[in-house]
Amino acid sequence: MIKVVIAGGGTAGWLAACGMSTRLGGLLDITLVESDAIGTIGVGEATIPPMRNFHRIMNIDEQAFMRATQATFKLGIVFDNWGDAGDSYIHSFGEIGQRSWMAEFHEFWLEARSQGFGGSLEDYCLELKAAKAGKFATVLGEARLNFAFHLDATRYATFLRQLSETAGVRRVEGKISEVRQHPETGDLQALLLENGELIEGDLFIDCTGFRALLIGDALKVGYEDWSHWLASDRAIAVQTEATEPPPPYTRSIAHASAWQWRIPLQSRVGNGIVYSSRFLSDDEAQHTLLSNLTGETRTEPRLLKFGTGRRRQAWHKNCVALGLSSGFLEPLESTSIHLVMTGIFRLIRLFPFGEDKDSLVHRFNEETRVEMESVRDFIILHYKQTKRTDSDFWNAYRTMDIPDSLAHRIDIFKNNAYVWSDDATLFRIASWVQVMMGQGLEPHEYHRAGKLMSTEALRQSLREIRNSIDKTVQQLPTHQEFIERYCAVPSGS
Ligand SMILES: Cc1cc2nc3c(=O)[nH]c(=O)nc-3n(C[C@H](O)[C@H](O)[C@H](O)COP(=O)(O)OP(=O)(O)OC[C@H]3O[C@@H](n4cnc5c(N)ncnc54)[C@H](O)[C@@H]3O)c2cc1C
Repeated sequence: MIKVVIAGGGTAGWLAACGMSTRLGGLLDITLVESDAIGTIGVGEATIPPMRNFHRIMNIDEQAFMRATQATFKLGIVFDNWGDAGDSYIHSFGEIGQRSWMAEFHEFWLEARSQGFGGSLEDYCLELKAAKAGKFATVLGEARLNFAFHLDATRYATFLRQLSETAGVRRVEGKISEVRQHPETGDLQALLLENGELIEGDLFIDCTGFRALLIGDALKVGYEDWSHWLASDRAIAVQTEATEPPPPYTRSIAHASAWQWRIPLQSRVGNGIVYSSRFLSDDEAQHTLLSNLTGETRTEPRLLKFGTGRRRQAWHKNCVALGLSSGFLEPLESTSIHLVMTGIFRLIRLFPFGEDKDSLVHRFNEETRVEMESVRDFIILHYKQTKRTDSDFWNAYRTMDIPDSLAHRIDIFKNNAYVWSDDATLFRIASWVQVMMGQGLEPHEYHRAGKLMSTEALRQSLREIRNSIDKTVQQLPTHQEFIERYCAVPSGS
């Protein structure tokens, strides 16, 4: 059997253990090493819809997962003060209206707006309207909502550990003190633990978080720094008591020189502030965070430092980096856990069973690069496309140079309202439209397919979509009612 050694037992390590053991378990002997003394990062609690696909493929029962992690449902993210101070918009997980093969829905809506009707674009998205109304169900009649979760990160790792150990993964507790390499090839051979135990392997997965013990310290794979586009390098996280039923969305609140997250779980709220040490001191950041909380704190504020960018090769020699060791993009769109999951899918598909693995390594690294860059562009969009002028922080972002790939997207939308999605792009057309328009980017032109319809036909078809959404939202239970039926945590646990 091929010996796979996973270094680290945070969300990335246990997801890798669970994924590899569930899908390739019969072919692999898997050991995971983690250190209780070091612990995990303990954040990473908002997710995006493709997580459900990962769970389905790994046979993870959704209700059991939600109970175990005290999870709630997420229909999108509310962005306050991003386009301008006082603004608010929702990036929801839903589709907007109905598209035709010729043009996207927002272009029909732009035509209606130019003729003086059609209301707000937000009226055409079921998930968005349900989120605003605090309503939720996975399915209602014909309507299937597209959703993700908010979860307790520590409980998620414990839940995945149970599944992995049941599937045959061996867990070793201990601190890695040395990474042994082959003297000639440089391949990794074994991890030496502080207690003297030697863990040998054929393939190593580095899930040691920002420490990157294997891919960084031992193999010296460099880091491509993206801090000139995304300057944030610190976060402070704190948990608070819940003061209201959990809303089915994450909240992202922009401040003068930082932004703050609010992630509602069943019994508490995860909060944090993300900032750049170039623009804000730790004390100022902590003060801003603590002044903008809604419940009593239940943990001490915790400072986390990071660098934005990506590992130049996520796979090098016989070591694959997953999670924080492979790169980091700030959690504005809750993408990190998703990138761990796609990394696991990719590794399973490209698993090196033979001797000659160079082409697999190349493919893995190329796909990882393209994926990371597309997420990076989407996150930069939120900072670049703003009208805010109230601080050095916003002025620097608003006027910075951006990657050509994003500049092209913004130009083509501004001039023609055109948006596209392809295999390399995680975010769908509806996501780009919601964020671009939410941030205040107004197209000058659009496809005139809507003009091919009579005014009355266009008005009628828009009205039907709005009415159908309103009717469904009315019939949905509240998010809290649905949680109580579907996945409430038994009291006392
Ligand atoms: C501020 C912040 C907010 C975030 N929010 C989100 C979010 O909302 N959504 C999202 O998807 N992602 C988010 N993330 C990212 C998310 O937290 C991570 O992608 C995820 O938790 C995976 O982390 P990890 O397992 O790679 O690292 P860690 O959790 O740090 O785990 C590292 C593991 O390696 C072990 N280890 C380290 N050194 C040694 C050693 N010497 N010997 C033995 N073991 C060792 C540790 O004990 C631990 O088990 C956020 C990240 C940050 C910094």
